[in-house]
Amino acid sequence: MAEVKVVGLWKRFGDVEAVKGITFEVKEGEFAVMLGPSGCGKTTTLRCIAGLERPDEGDILFNGRRVNELRPSQRNIAFVFQFYALYPHLTVWDNIAFPLKAEKLPKEEIRRRVEEVLEMLDLKGLERRKPKELSAGQKQRVALGRAMVRRPEVFLLDEPLSNLDAKLRERMRGELKKLQRKLGATTIYVTHDQIEAMSMADKIIVMNEGKIQQIGTPHEVYHNPANLFVANFIGSPGMNFIRCRYDREGGRLRDESGGIEIPLSEIAREKLGSISTDEVIIGVRPEAIEFHPGPSPRAIEAGVYLVEPLGSVNVVNLEVGGEVIKAVAEPGFSPSVDEKVWISFKEVSLFDGRGGDSIGAMGGEELWRR
Ligand code: ADP
Ligand code: MG
Repeated sequence: MAEVKVVGLWKRFGDVEAVKGITFEVKEGEFAVMLGPSGCGKTTTLRCIAGLERPDEGDILFNGRRVNELRPSQRNIAFVFQFYALYPHLTVWDNIAFPLKAEKLPKEEIRRRVEEVLEMLDLKGLERRKPKELSAGQKQRVALGRAMVRRPEVFLLDEPLSNLDAKLRERMRGELKKLQRKLGATTIYVTHDQIEAMSMADKIIVMNEGKIQQIGTPHEVYHNPANLFVANFIGSPGMNFIRCRYDREGGRLRDESGGIEIPLSEIAREKLGSISTDEVIIGVRPEAIEFHPGPSPRAIEAGVYLVEPLGSVNVVNLEVGGEVIKAVAEPGFSPSVDEKVWISFKEVSLFDGRGGDSIGAMGGEELWRR
């Protein structure tokens, strides 16, 4: 298995700058997910790695060796688009053997390799079946088997689950992750679905408009998003953003309507010292909002605007100052509309209100002056 490095990659299509100078690495055996909205350059990046597109600038390295000049067939990669792209008239055996037959390997070698893949993917006994006689999970494994049989150094998967319904996608996520671990396969997986990314990745590469926004573990991108884009793209319901003014003299944050006023701790003031604007955005995840039965220190008064019962949780929409924010509460907590509640924040992110970059994340307690 190979380690992959992408260094300063640019790719243009006429006037469109699809990828604008991105750099990242994927370690041997790592499961990396490129996450970003449609059109942000994910497929273009994969195609450059695969050798299907020529970079305008930048290098692709496999195990430290530059592969820019190598043809796709020389790069020893497996590129999978959709797991259902099986040949319908061929059996499981022939589907998996297909790439080896195309390479004209000796019969015995083909037999051995196909057997090995069938064994590894738990497909023994299904060799003679046609795709239509398989379950969705089995089909996925056959498609993967067809990619694996060539013993690639790197797996490149481009939205492979996108044509499945939601239930199936959920199951496939788990199976895919388990299989990747078992094979120890260096994998770059592309998706626009943040749940897929969060649930499977060792490392998430968040992209927008041809640029990398953040590289981090699922934990890092969730708890310490690098900017407003990442904060907004990850999590559902999305992070709440409260626009504030920073009163530097008084060491306070005030939201625009005056409904929130937070005397800041030294740690918070220190972090805010680095920015040149007084526009600050407090980001709070709906899951990081705590309810209190009455007024309490470091709790903010809010009015209940709407309750969305989702079964496992209630999403409580709250009016705070002039804004409506969402909080995730226990299903048993169902306040009536217009009721007064008190909330505090377990964790917050602060953002530069102009550029949108993160100033830092901290526990809610750490934000307030004692
Ligand atoms: P993603 O996979 O993230 O949805 P793509 O890499 O497919 O994004 O596309 C990035 C941008 O490059 C888009 O604006 C897309 O329209 C453009 N693009 C991709 N391939 C081509 C092409 N062959 N010719 C012209 N424009 C392209
Ligand atoms: Mg794409």
